[in-house]
Amino acid sequence: MAHERNFRVVVVGAGIAGLFIAEKLKHAGIDFTVYEKADEVGGTWRDNTYPGLFVDVLSRQYEFPFQPNYDWSRKYAPAPEIQAYIKKVADDRDLRKYIRFNEEIAGARFTDGRWHVTTAKGATDVADVFISATGFLSKPIYPDIPGRESFAGPAFHSARWDHSVPHQGKRWGIIGAGCSGVQITEALAWEGVDVTQFVRRPQWIHIRENPHTSWWERLRLRLPFAYRLEQQKLWKMINVMDRWRLQPGPQREAMKRQYAEYLDVIKDPELKKKLTPAFHLGCTRIPKSDQNYYQAVQLPNVHIENRGIKRIAPNGVELADGTVSAFDVLVYATGFDAHAYMRPMNITGLNGATFDEVWKERVYSYGGIALPGFPNLFMLYGPFSPVNNVPVPIGLGQEIDYIMQLIALARDRQVAIAPTTEATQRFVARLDAAFPDTVWVGCRNWYSDQGGTPILWPLPQDAHKEFFARIATEDLEFIPVGQPAPAAAA
Ligand SMILES: Cc1cc2nc3c(=O)[nH]c(=O)nc-3n(C[C@H](O)[C@H](O)[C@H](O)COP(=O)(O)OP(=O)(O)OC[C@H]3O[C@@H](n4cnc5c(N)ncnc54)[C@H](O)[C@@H]3O)c2cc1C
Repeated sequence: MAHERNFRVVVVGAGIAGLFIAEKLKHAGIDFTVYEKADEVGGTWRDNTYPGLFVDVLSRQYEFPFQPNYDWSRKYAPAPEIQAYIKKVADDRDLRKYIRFNEEIAGARFTDGRWHVTTAKGATDVADVFISATGFLSKPIYPDIPGRESFAGPAFHSARWDHSVPHQGKRWGIIGAGCSGVQITEALAWEGVDVTQFVRRPQWIHIRENPHTSWWERLRLRLPFAYRLEQQKLWKMINVMDRWRLQPGPQREAMKRQYAEYLDVIKDPELKKKLTPAFHLGCTRIPKSDQNYYQAVQLPNVHIENRGIKRIAPNGVELADGTVSAFDVLVYATGFDAHAYMRPMNITGLNGATFDEVWKERVYSYGGIALPGFPNLFMLYGPFSPVNNVPVPIGLGQEIDYIMQLIALARDRQVAIAPTTEATQRFVARLDAAFPDTVWVGCRNWYSDQGGTPILWPLPQDAHKEFFARIATEDLEFIPVGQPAPAAAA
């Protein structure tokens, strides 16, 4: 079919999501540009370079399906290896030529059937389809502690690690007990560094073995049959082994016992009490410990502090009871704004609607990928994508295959596609109904919105695959482009 104008796609972000869809767009022969505000690919894995970071799912599950890696050094690869793999994919697939680095997208407006995009530097672009691959854990949150700016030594967020600071000979204060705080503390602990971790809310922690891969495993994966078998095994594992998060039952009870046993290696009852969570297993993201955190915290150079922080002083931290602890370095392992999604980009859809407005009451989406009133705009890993119980590349693959079909439809029929309001409400209601049985309700966690509803995928992975297996045309509006767009569904 002849197209009157050049059909174009703009992608924002060159993390794994942006690169994944870039490869698909390239393969489909579609004209596209990826805008990346930093100077390198990798997103999360470019930014998080703190000691002790390992991928929390099997390395083999953290691969692009189009580029297997047979050479992971460990069962759970160290972060630099993940970043090296992502960079290799960008190089091998010749994706860098499509990426404009150091270009932040400031906003986009849907006018006359196309997206008019503006960069922070004031440049403009026009595209038929706008894809946000801006990540859900990419905007660091700093703690709101008085006096933070007054600290005299180096102080940085875990996602902005300052490698110029030597580890040895310094007193380190790690603020935060989530995944990053746990991994940093255990890594510094085993280096023999004087480290204090501020643990306001202890977490359930998965103590796991992380063996090196053998030459035989690496060789075996190169055989197509063995590789396929391995993939099938992994899929089954995700689908079956992880059901405890979704429904109560013996599997969940067994997990609870297992996690309680991990804590039993702590000999000092006071320390054990300090590190025992007061909420149920799985409610928050579970930190993975590759270097036995519970052994590490019993080393003489490690201190766990559960008294609250009152203020930060130039030489250290003042606790709620007035005690002052002196530190040379402070690390804010305080996480990310997981609900910012595409923001602070200023996106305007039909009838002048913006994301801030439509998400004012509640963050929502259709399938985690689209929103009514924002035609031909697709999000990768938007609200309700499976952020907890499945390796991100697998969830992404399902979303991307579906979005690629929508893009082909948009191009061939010369339409802009958006979900209807009714279909979106149905989708959200279906997920809402599933949450009460899951582990994610009943405690404070970063998955949940203002109203306490988690914004992730609460159903089995098969259901996610199934949702994206077929384009439900009855759920979608097809708006002819080239003409003024009709009003959005109310
Ligand atoms: C410390 C840490 C450990 C993690 N470990 C795991 C794990 O083990 N397993 C797992 O499955 N997931 C893990 N995650 C989740 C991880 O974020 C995802 O697996 C995945 O990397 C997300 O990729 P992404 O491309 O969607 O987003 P990101 O990697 O966040 O990439 C987004 C990109 O968009 C760019 N960008 C953002 N806004 C703009 C803009 N306006 N203009 C231009 N560019 C923009 C950013 O610079 C960035 O490069 C972890 C996250 C963190 C923070």
